[in-house]
Amino acid sequence: MAEAFDVIVIGSGPGGYVCAIRAAQLGLKTACVEKRATLGGTCLNIGCIPSKALLQSSENFEQAGHEFAAHGIVIDEVKLDLAKMQARKDDVVSANVKGIEFLFRKNKIAWLKGTGRIVAPGQVDVDGTVHETKHIVIATGSESTPLRGVDVDEKRIVTSTGALELDKVPEHLVVIGAGVIGLELGSVWRRLGARVTVIECLDRILPGMDAELATAARRILTKQGLTFRLGARVTGATASDAGVTLQVEPAKGGAAEQIAADIVLLAIGRRPYNEGLGLEAAGVAMDERGRVRTDEHYATNVLGIYAIGDAIAGPMLAHKAEDEGVALAERLAGKAGHVNYGVIPAVVYTWPEIASVGQTEEELKAAGIAYNSGKFPFTANARARAIGDTDGFVKLLADKTTDRLLGAHIIGPDGGTLIAELAIAMEFGASAEDVARTCHAHPSLNEAVKEAALAVDGRALHI
Ligand code: NAD
Repeated sequence: MAEAFDVIVIGSGPGGYVCAIRAAQLGLKTACVEKRATLGGTCLNIGCIPSKALLQSSENFEQAGHEFAAHGIVIDEVKLDLAKMQARKDDVVSANVKGIEFLFRKNKIAWLKGTGRIVAPGQVDVDGTVHETKHIVIATGSESTPLRGVDVDEKRIVTSTGALELDKVPEHLVVIGAGVIGLELGSVWRRLGARVTVIECLDRILPGMDAELATAARRILTKQGLTFRLGARVTGATASDAGVTLQVEPAKGGAAEQIAADIVLLAIGRRPYNEGLGLEAAGVAMDERGRVRTDEHYATNVLGIYAIGDAIAGPMLAHKAEDEGVALAERLAGKAGHVNYGVIPAVVYTWPEIASVGQTEEELKAAGIAYNSGKFPFTANARARAIGDTDGFVKLLADKTTDRLLGAHIIGPDGGTLIAELAIAMEFGASAEDVARTCHAHPSLNEAVKEAALAVDGRALHI
């Protein structure tokens, strides 16, 4: 039997590593099990961080090629050095994962290298050595959901992992799924020169997000050059050296057709990853979608075993996992950790960015909540015009009687940053009037938020 701990966290993604840091800060003797060669999980290694590096590089490439001229900056020939772009992305990832190693050392968190398996409550096996602990935290994250008939080889048929590693710009990239991954990585490869077709089984993109925002996103992304095939279902894919042939059928039934691609990106969602974790043997209850069942304090049905992040219910977002990690660590240390699930922002890092927090119009209607809506377009925002990014709008939804903010939806330049103002407002229970009467710097993109708040009461000034 090896060293005993207060907490062993299994998985070092944003949920797991943050939980470990907070537990260590609070004086708990903490270890984190990670089998990957580097810390940080999917987000830092093969998800959020490398995709944001490529989104930035590809955006720079597009601007240099198509937008600088309008600013009077003339570049005769813009060339792509994809190998260098990929190397830079790898450097960004490397700096981030090393940062977590530093934080582990700083907080005296033991990194147990290897694959963790729960032997019993209080016991975690890591590659043959059993470690004792008071608490076990499952933070094993998620994996790409497979699709029958579409066999991923990470070369021709890829998940986000392979799509971040391509060494050549595909001539035709077909994306299955118009969700977050499909739109972000579809945007990257379109900007770098690929023809991109996105096949989506629903009749809209970005299910779950406010419908008006999704419609605007589809219009803007189509204008940029993405092709959407909505209401279409992929039923099979055959890969050869020459490329991939996809079988596609109308979702409502009808004649099938074939679509040729040189690369196919499968992005139809993610599912919890808990293979080989010993959950069944330990008697940990799961729900019908393979997620670990927990109570509101992240406790499973087995005493001393907890779970957070993508492994449990809720949006599969790094920041949701982080906040759960903090709340759980605080509870394990005898404090009162808490996550407000009503105020979790969601951001799609296309350009323009698409960002939401709180309830959508569809949700308010379904719940029978009366609301006022205020909208303001970036075309009427001076800063957006100066930047040259006027696509999109801010939409705020406030309770009809109390004026309390219930939802905020932005598509526009830096929407992912702008949404934070509204998340804070909502955490403080602000009304639209509160935001409208807060002095906003001029000229700033945030003024579009203030104007949308004024518009809730029908008194926007600049439109
Ligand atoms: P998603 O759930 O966002 O979108 C999947 C899409 O695929 C949906 O539109 C769905 O209707 C469609 N679909 C499902 N089955 C299909 C089929 N057979 N044929 C065609 N379309 C089909 O999933 P994702 O984009 O794979 O992302 C996975 C998870 O990762 C999400 O939970 C997402 O929140 C998270 N993520 C977040 C970010 C971010 O926060 N910026 C970035 C990437 C991923």
